[in-house]
Parts: sequence; structure tokens; C-alpha cells
Amino acid sequence: MSVRIIDHRIAERKPCASLACDALVVGAGFAGSTIARELAERGSMRVALIEQRPHIGGNAYDTLDSQGVLIHAFGPHIYHTASERVHAWLSRFTAWRSYEHRVCADVHGRLLPVPFNLNSIDAAFAPDKAARITELLLSEFGRGARVPIIELRTKSDALLHELADYIYENIFLVYTMKQWGQTPEEIDPSITARVPVLIDRDDRYFQDPHQGVPHEGYTRLFERILDHPNISVHLNVAADELLELTPEDPDSKDGPFSGILLAGQPHDGLLIYSGALDELCKWRFGRLPYRSLDLVYRHYDHNPVQPCATINYTVSEAYTRTTEFTWLTGQDVEVSTVLEEYSLPFEGAPGQIPYYPVVGEQNQQQYERYRALFSKLPGFYPLGRLGEYRYYNMDQAVLRALELADECI
Ligand code: UDP
Repeated sequence: MSVRIIDHRIAERKPCASLACDALVVGAGFAGSTIARELAERGSMRVALIEQRPHIGGNAYDTLDSQGVLIHAFGPHIYHTASERVHAWLSRFTAWRSYEHRVCADVHGRLLPVPFNLNSIDAAFAPDKAARITELLLSEFGRGARVPIIELRTKSDALLHELADYIYENIFLVYTMKQWGQTPEEIDPSITARVPVLIDRDDRYFQDPHQGVPHEGYTRLFERILDHPNISVHLNVAADELLELTPEDPDSKDGPFSGILLAGQPHDGLLIYSGALDELCKWRFGRLPYRSLDLVYRHYDHNPVQPCATINYTVSEAYTRTTEFTWLTGQDVEVSTVLEEYSLPFEGAPGQIPYYPVVGEQNQQQYERYRALFSKLPGFYPLGRLGEYRYYNMDQAVLRALELADECI
């Protein structure tokens, strides 16, 4: 392994001494690491990647915990994709443990498969009623259809209406209130549509043709992606320590930036930024809303602790869901670690992480105001969940990075 990582908490050299590059990439998550590799390899550019945390991998970082269980340190990450391009690209750097994620909703102690599907109907309703509902769904939507709960709720048929109300109240309402602090009607419809009602007997959480977890973990995958002679990785370096954006008109608060200083020197190369744009612009148009998480890892002396990988608490508890990591990783251990996730608004407290952009029209407009500040900097590209303020899955972040690389090279 020859990935060039310089940890600036312990390195004597200051970052500016080693940052000579054609492309500066900010953030070592999926978006930043993918584009760093592409620019370095396909574009033959010298790439410096800076990361404010002490590790690579962003929120996909995994590590052994104190009892030796491989955990995802920033919440569960389950890879799935329908993109052949993404799958072929990532498969250069890892083999896959074949794994299909399954989630149950705990509804007053009864476990129902999620996405809510024809099996969930059998588990929730008496047999004759379940049969009538199933027949109706198949004739209304057809087998394999994926129906967003918001759409199902518009149906006027009495039995469909009853079903929609049941799913809404028992699967979506409380979970969504916990996760977003708003009802399913108040949030963008695309969010609940991620987990549609599935007119099928497929209990898998995802239906994509490629699913799995990296055989040796995510961190190892990132080490391989970043292992290239043209890439230097700089840990414990915050972008705001190095970057300065110079305004075109120093008197105008709303005006665009006209230059980038990197460690005090003009930077004419590419700048790929996968952090939050409002933070980079010092919140001049107000904070973009994000959701953060409190993650509580509980240790057990037995394994397994729960009957499926993830349990969504859709009518009770303060946490949204619990995930037992050994289901995902297949690690053969006698102990276990289970994660409880508590959602809360991101307020920018030290150490707090903005995990989810709160997508929606109004917030998008606020984001566009920030984006417009960079219109005169052709080498500047925001990228990824934070940089683009998009609710990307891992594969979507990788695809976006590959496409941006196509554009830049
Ligand atoms: N959702 C829900 N109940 C569930 C699963 C999902 O209400 O049992 C809603 C909720 O609003 C959630 C959204 O669907 O935020 C998207 O869920 P997903 O599992 O994709 O969220 P992620 O894994 O990205 O946190």
C-alpha cells in the first residue's frame, strides 16, 4: 500500500508546502475520492486532497470498535446500484461480499417487512382481507410496481384508502416526524418515494442488480482508490485554513467571487469542493438546513441481537432505527454492536455533522444563491451530497464524480 497520506496533526511540514497541484479536492468521501482518482489517473493531473477529519472515507468510514466488531462509524452504509459504470469502476478497488439488505418495521412489537410489500400485507391483515387487498393492488398497479405512499393516499377506492391510511400511520408518519421534524406531506415527495410501497413479494430493501458490502470494508476500498502516485492526501486540514475566496467587488455582499487563494497564493487549477457551500461562504445568505444524527453504539455479549439487519421503529421509540453490523459485514464474532440513530437539526455545533440536506424547493433556491457566487470561477465545482445539496446515495455520488471527471479531463 503506497497511498500517500500526510497527517497534518502530526506532520512537521505545513500543508502549503506540499499542496502544489493541478487540482485541489476538498473532502475524502465518495465524491471527493472518486474524482481525485479520475483526475490523477485518467487526467494525469497532480491532485491534492484535503480532509478535515483524521481519516479518509467520509461518512462511509468503517473501523473495528473496542470489542473488535467492524462498525460503520457514521451510520450504516449499504451499497446498491443499477449503474454498470459505477459498479465496474468501484469493482476495480474491491471485491464484494454479496449482501442484500433487509429491514423490518417494528409496529407495536410486530415486525413487518419494509418496503411495505405483499408479504407485509399478509403479516398485517387477516388472510381474507390481505387476499382482497393484494388482488386489488395487482389489478390497479400491476406486479412489480413501486407506488409512493403519497400517491397511494390519493386513491379513492375504500379498501385502497384503508390500506394507504394503515401504511401512512404505521410506517411513514412517526418515522418521518422523527427523521425530519416534519410530516410526509411537508417534506419533498421525493424523500418518502425512496421507500415506495412495493407491489411484489420482494422483501429486499433495494431492488438494484448490484448490491453488497466491500469485502474488506469501506476504509480499505478508499485506501485503494486513493493509492495513486499523482494523489497526495492531507488529513486534519480544514478548507477554511487554506482557502480564501476573493470577492469581485469587496463592497458587495451578494456579488460573485473572482479568485481563489490557496495558502495565500492564487490557485488557477481545478477546485473540487465536496463540503457544504453555505459554510464555505460563511453563511452569508443564512444556513442551509441539514439534519444531523446522534449515533449511539450499544455493545452486546451475544450475537445476533435482532432478527434482521435493521429495525425501523415506525411507531415508537425516540430513535429512528437500529442496525446490527454483523448482518451487513458477515463478521464471525460472538459479541455484537447495534447502532441506534437519533435524528436532530444540524446547528453547526463543534463536531456535529450535516448528514442529510433537507431537499425542497425553497432550500434549493437558497442553495442556488450560494452556487451563483461561483459563476465567475470556471474551475470551481461543488460535488456530492453536501457540495450539490442533493440527497445522493453512495452510487449516485460516485456517478456524479465520474461524470464531472469526464467534463474536466
Ligand atoms: N421512511 C419512513 N419509514 C420507513 C422508512 C422510510 O417513513 O420505515 C421515510 C422517511 O421519511 C425516510 C425516507 O422514507 O427519511 C427515506 O428513507 P431511507 O431509508 O431511504 O433513508 P436513509 O437510509 O437515507 O436514512
